[in-house]
Amino acid sequence: MRVTNLVSKTSRTFPADEEAKNAQLLIRAGYIHKEMAGVYSFLPLGFRVLEKIKNIVREEMNSVGGQEVMMSVLQPKDIWQKTDRWDDKKVDNWFKTKLVNGTEVGVGLTHEEPIIDSIGDFLKSYKDLPKIVYQIQNKFRNELRAKSGLFRGREFLMKDMYSFASSQEQHIEIYENIVKAYFKVYERLGLGEVTYRTYADGGIFTKRFSDEFQTISPIGEDTIYLDREKGIAINEEIMSDENLAKMGLDKQKLEKVKAVEVGNTFHLETKYTDALDVYFSDKNGNQQSIIMGCYGIGISRLMGVIAEHFSDDKGLNWPKNIAPYSVYLSFIGQDEELKKTAEDLYEKLTDQKIEVLFDDRDARPSEKLTDSELLGIPFRIIVNKGTLSDGVLEFKQRSKTDLEHLSFEEIINRLK
Ligand code: ATP
Ligand code: MG
Repeated sequence: MRVTNLVSKTSRTFPADEEAKNAQLLIRAGYIHKEMAGVYSFLPLGFRVLEKIKNIVREEMNSVGGQEVMMSVLQPKDIWQKTDRWDDKKVDNWFKTKLVNGTEVGVGLTHEEPIIDSIGDFLKSYKDLPKIVYQIQNKFRNELRAKSGLFRGREFLMKDMYSFASSQEQHIEIYENIVKAYFKVYERLGLGEVTYRTYADGGIFTKRFSDEFQTISPIGEDTIYLDREKGIAINEEIMSDENLAKMGLDKQKLEKVKAVEVGNTFHLETKYTDALDVYFSDKNGNQQSIIMGCYGIGISRLMGVIAEHFSDDKGLNWPKNIAPYSVYLSFIGQDEELKKTAEDLYEKLTDQKIEVLFDDRDARPSEKLTDSELLGIPFRIIVNKGTLSDGVLEFKQRSKTDLEHLSFEEIINRLK
């Protein structure tokens, strides 16, 4: 991609109505556009990052047997009435609307009922279980306060997964596999070290705790107590001597930190499947309840968390796995020969299947370097006088301060 062709441009001015660092940087760097509070559009650069996060999540969900679906966003009222959730006062952030004929419909904020309604007919025998399905889709929630940029939106991208099992044993095996897959996701996104499995309230249908995946962040809305040695934490909301004892945690060893929930996993037991009349027959032909689990990951929230976590005073700094481009390439100096050399290099790198953002503008050097830092592309290659005289390229990693002078081959090796 050439910078002169890119839809977006960088901006020096700070968006006035945006306090959160993640949104400020992403807007200034041209990754996202704010439509209104809590609602953002993803421009080409932001879309590429989002797609890369989605693909990592997708690969890990597929690896535990998840099958991808796409549910409808408009939802009929009757299935939600069966589980008593349509009129539940606790679900206070639901966008609901009406068809022309007055029929009420819900706008997707979660999909337990619709997924049971969609595939329940196929789960009739113990042989049909277990099954795991997921989708990656925009969710809509009328949040009281949209906060912290991509951290809390009114429209946001979520991966939601649902599991159906024939026994507690089967359910727990799936559940723990999914927890492992979640950690693979956070590791691949560069957040493994700062993300903790955190015990939280399980809700009213189960005696078990739910698990939240909390990433340490000064602007996180949650407070958790973590045991760094054990690598687990407990949400402040359920902090009690009794719960600590159940988890084998020692109060003295716990560290209080602010965190943001980047995912969660729940035991739903048989509450929703029973309510929607979906049962299976066991080996002896007896009708049994189906045990359900649900598992969320906040994809757009993660993009905000990563943007914020790795940024510095100069701008964004993407981990290699999800950067929109691996390399920022440009030339510095007046000589026409320099631009020509950079053009050739752009082609050679592209031929090697390296994703390059080629700054082909005749802009001031300081402008180019400032932009390359704001954009947060992991590697930077500059063609300059030394390239013409000694055949070396200037190479810099976004996260380091030192400049290196390397040959084309040496750079290719670094990038692989
Ligand atoms: P939270 O506790 O942050 O309000 P939640 O418990 O309601 O989230 P779920 O409904 O289970 O979460 O959603 C699954 C995941 O989606 C969450 O773990 C979070 O990462 C993300 N998420 C939830 N609400 C939002 C939002 N308003 N904006 C962005 N991401 C969100
Ligand atoms: Mg939560």
